[in-house]
Amino acid sequence: MTQENTAAQPLADRTPEDLQAFLAEQRTAYDDLAGRDLKLDLTRGKPSSEQLDLSNALLDLPSEYVDAHGVDTRNYGGLQGLEDLRAMFADLLWVEPAQVVAGGSSSLVMMREVLTDLWLKGAVDGVRPWGQEEKVTFICPVPGYDRHFTLLEWFGIETVTVPMNEDGPDAEEVARIAGSDPSVKGMWMVPTYSNPSGAVATQEVSARLAAMDTAAPDFKILWDNAYAFHHLTEDEAKSADILSLAAAAGHPHRPIMFASTSKITFAGAGVAFLAGSLETVKWYVDNLGQGSIGPDKLNQLRHLEFFGSPEGVREHMRKHREIIAPKFDIVDRVLTEQLDGLGIATWTRPSGGYFVSLDVLDGTAGRVVELTREAGVALTPAGSAFPGKDDPRDRNLRIAPTFPGPDEVQAAMEVLTACVRLAAAEKLAG
Ligand code: PLP
Repeated sequence: MTQENTAAQPLADRTPEDLQAFLAEQRTAYDDLAGRDLKLDLTRGKPSSEQLDLSNALLDLPSEYVDAHGVDTRNYGGLQGLEDLRAMFADLLWVEPAQVVAGGSSSLVMMREVLTDLWLKGAVDGVRPWGQEEKVTFICPVPGYDRHFTLLEWFGIETVTVPMNEDGPDAEEVARIAGSDPSVKGMWMVPTYSNPSGAVATQEVSARLAAMDTAAPDFKILWDNAYAFHHLTEDEAKSADILSLAAAAGHPHRPIMFASTSKITFAGAGVAFLAGSLETVKWYVDNLGQGSIGPDKLNQLRHLEFFGSPEGVREHMRKHREIIAPKFDIVDRVLTEQLDGLGIATWTRPSGGYFVSLDVLDGTAGRVVELTREAGVALTPAGSAFPGKDDPRDRNLRIAPTFPGPDEVQAAMEVLTACVRLAAAEKLAG
């Protein structure tokens, strides 16, 4: 940290001469970094090899292939997934085992299946398939997960955005939109340590979403709890019990919950889960049966043996935390050292999940990405966390620090913050 930054004066308050001097300084600093021939990457929201190594014992499991209920996991059948693995994750997700499906390796695939089923067959509480509606619209809290948005685009579903606040989506705004337009059929929701801001939806926000009146009778909350257990501190956030909240409010079929072990064991070879009302589970499994005779139960049994109990999952996640929390600390330290006080950036300090969301000076996010690329640091394209990749303020950037090593995170963050300063100085100095 340079002394100059600790006593930083907001750029907007500086005289034109001071700004020009600051700009010249930033150009020199940037040219120096750009000349170092770096090759760094902050785009990949995936586990590092060290994290994957934590689960290598899976490679020698299962030790037997018949489960505790006599199911031969080598064979076809059991579309809903192995009973004991469903019970383990039901415990972790605070739902009943009968409300859980243990599926293949990707929850995103399950989300696509659910949307396809809604599109072709309609919801358990719907009047007609969504594909027969004149228009279908989804509420998207922003910033959010890019693949949620591209999936909607693929269906031709329209999007309307609401702000993602620290306590979850702006619930009053969601209720206003969902209550007034019957084409609004659902919303995305990453309730715990959201991608990318790390926000955790409070009980109050969740209860409001569960209970609100919606113009569409078959309104769905696609409750993507991808980071339910991915704590970065000892203060482990608890996800709201959305299925009970919705059932108590008279909307039992509204939420459909998703989770997976992609960032617990192996990304691409884990187990994904869906949970909902008993009717929703039956609807999903019946539709699934049109294209499947059963999931990979050997992999499910392998995971069951590996974890042993719900506590085994929690314990395993603490090992992940030890590896990745220091990387998040580096991100926050460099951001603070280099940007605090300049009035050109704000960022999140997540207590879980995989990302830090950085807001730079309005109108400069695209320029920052361009500058970092030229200096050898890959960043997720500006606007990625918005439907249509359209960030109206061109200010949001997503930082993914889990995959690179700590030294690489440090070096990449130094480049990124230098670019944020330079882009802001360019803009303010005209
Ligand atoms: N949901 C969210 C919010 C994610 O961030 C990700 C991956 O980054 C996924 C889902 C993907 O989940 P899966 O690997 O189970 O398909």
